Amino acid sequence: MKAEKQFERLVIAAYRLPFRFVRSKSGVKTLQNSGGLVSAILALSESFKHKNSGSNDHKILWAGIIDNLPENYTDAESQNEHFDMVPVKISPKLNSLFYEGFCNNLIWPLFHYFSSYSVFNNSYFRAYEDVNSIFCEELVRHLKPGDFIWIHDYQLLLLPAMIREKMPDVTIGFFLHIPFPSYEVFRLLPRNWRESIVLGLLGADLVGFHTHDYTQHFIKSVKRTTGYECRQNIIVTPDRAVKADAFPIGIDYDKFHNASGNKSVVAAKQKYQKCLPGQKLIFSLDRLDYSKGLLSRLKGYETFLEKYPEWRLKVVFNMVVVPSRDSIENYKEMKKEIESTVGRINGKYSTLSWRPVIYQYKSLSFNDLVALYDLSDVGLITPLRDGMNLVAKEYIACQKDNKGVLILSEMAGAASELSEAIIINPADHVEIADAIYTALEMKTDEKQVRVSRMQNRIADYNVFTWAFDFFNQTYEIKKQQDLMGVKFINETITAQMVADYKKANRRILFLDYDGTVVPFAKYPELATIDDKTLNIIKGLTDDPKNHIVIISGRGKDFLEKQFKKSAVTLIAEHGYFIKKAGREWESTFHTDDQWKEAVMPIMTDYVNRCNGTFIEEKAASIAWHYRNADSDFAQLRLHELRDDLAEIIRHKTDFEILEGNKVLEVKSSKYNKGLSAATLITDEYYGFILAAGDDNTDEFLFQALPDFVYSIRIGLSPSFARYNLPDTSQLLQLLEALVK
Ligand code: UDP
Repeated sequence: MKAEKQFERLVIAAYRLPFRFVRSKSGVKTLQNSGGLVSAILALSESFKHKNSGSNDHKILWAGIIDNLPENYTDAESQNEHFDMVPVKISPKLNSLFYEGFCNNLIWPLFHYFSSYSVFNNSYFRAYEDVNSIFCEELVRHLKPGDFIWIHDYQLLLLPAMIREKMPDVTIGFFLHIPFPSYEVFRLLPRNWRESIVLGLLGADLVGFHTHDYTQHFIKSVKRTTGYECRQNIIVTPDRAVKADAFPIGIDYDKFHNASGNKSVVAAKQKYQKCLPGQKLIFSLDRLDYSKGLLSRLKGYETFLEKYPEWRLKVVFNMVVVPSRDSIENYKEMKKEIESTVGRINGKYSTLSWRPVIYQYKSLSFNDLVALYDLSDVGLITPLRDGMNLVAKEYIACQKDNKGVLILSEMAGAASELSEAIIINPADHVEIADAIYTALEMKTDEKQVRVSRMQNRIADYNVFTWAFDFFNQTYEIKKQQDLMGVKFINETITAQMVADYKKANRRILFLDYDGTVVPFAKYPELATIDDKTLNIIKGLTDDPKNHIVIISGRGKDFLEKQFKKSAVTLIAEHGYFIKKAGREWESTFHTDDQWKEAVMPIMTDYVNRCNGTFIEEKAASIAWHYRNADSDFAQLRLHELRDDLAEIIRHKTDFEILEGNKVLEVKSSKYNKGLSAATLITDEYYGFILAAGDDNTDEFLFQALPDFVYSIRIGLSPSFARYNLPDTSQLLQLLEALVK
């Protein structure tokens, strides 16, 4: 896969820098780590090299924390051939509240569904905000237009929005390396933390997760936290479209697959083989963590020895646990419990010549790792929760003669790709025991078919494909943002508008009400106009050159009450009624009420079937509002209601179903906002016309007006309007600018 567009430079922000400082007699040197992610990022950056590749512009800028940063390190020490590093400096006290506190005592357990381990502490959250903003300051000092900023993982959830605020046009991708939990778990966070996290992530253009499920959990959390509309994977925020999608991280497949032929790997294999005379090897490898299901795995193995005694003496389970966070009390206790369980199993089943479990608490060298992956007959990977689990993929990649069997937890992200593994529930000891038996008894042909299918998949979607895919999708969403035709009113357009306004002898301004001059409220009757807005409107109506029209779907009594002292023309119920300043309401349309008898019971039925929805009855229409209901459930009911109503009005050619912002309305099709506006502008010549609205019902208005009109859609949606403004307050500012 190739990166589609050449951005100027790749910028990475991750908690840790991929370097370490090494002191020698000749001074301090930086050594670059050699993980799969670093290699993928290097490959991606190579493809960014642009015309003047002689320059250093293609070098990756990487911001992160480094453990042993020397006091007086020099700029030269913070660079190498590929990277310019931006070391982020945080005091040990702040880092402890931030990293041990918010990251590892709250987000890590909560996002892995261990909510009882989560510690909710205000000082943790404050530290989290502080560290994210320190990252932001450091980065912004180094950023340039044209950079592609890729932010990684749960330590930096607030950073995308912080950067966006300072640099609105920059391209930002975010990737989460751990699970995103279901909304029922996410909502355990205090409301303001939840909002900060969701809005923080929505500062990115693309938010990536390992699996489709995590993506859906995130989208649900966005909907429930912000109320933003989501169209499939696109989230429509007030100022941009943000995409959320699944990018299952891969491994450097060739590196693992080709390693087992290396001399030192062959030697390591021979060494291990000698220790296993005629025995089958089960292997597992994890960091010490409660999410990895280590105890449950041991109990599953114990059940296996109990249930299948014919396998005793013939099998050995090598459980390697990599030291991690073992100064933390939780982890210390878990380690003790693992060790005592290993002791108990070995005590129960060992013979003079056989030990059923070989437990090792240590790291492995790459060669030993590959040797053990390759040599083992069963890979037993049973985390209780895991964002992805790379060990499972590495194990498959190392099966040179395709003879190993992978037993994999359904709770690991990798399970969605490695479906030919034996998939188990990691909490079910009997299922683990039976899976071990099935794996040991499996015929070679079947093993080979399973492994080679999985190998094909992970060889194709490797860590390089993953990085390029993520990058290309970021570029795609950038294009889509352009295509959505959102053109925000900038200073130049405002200046032109003010000049045209001044020039014109007669002007007409059509202003929709809800979502345009007044923000949405929980119930329609609560969305009343305030004095400040009335003053702005007064400023407009005081000028005799102006004709101000409030054009709304609202009933006439409500509008009249809001604008009783204003010299405006009111258009109510999408054009059914009109009232010029100082005159009475008029209507040229007549509909009988009989149709309501058929529609009302159906809508009432849907109010009962969808909690939080309500009906608004107007003189000539009935509306079903669903803004206060669960958005997914309401969408489902909306489809059904639309179908039911379509059936009823099928024979009434002069009726229509109109969909506005979180509302569905049935009305006559003889009138709409566009027809009313068109009538007004043919009555008189206007040199300046402005029309502003926020939903589909205003599209009739935009379509009906001539091209030169300043038409403005509030919010971000494809529209016939020429311009967009993010929200009501920005429109009011613009109207104030016209008055001035
Ligand atoms: N690993 C390692 N040294 C070891 C043991 C494991 O570098 O001694 C690597 C292993 O090869 C894998 C990673 O650590 O790439 C573990 O990733 P995984 O997604 O399985 O678990 P995580 O630790 O990220 O939760």
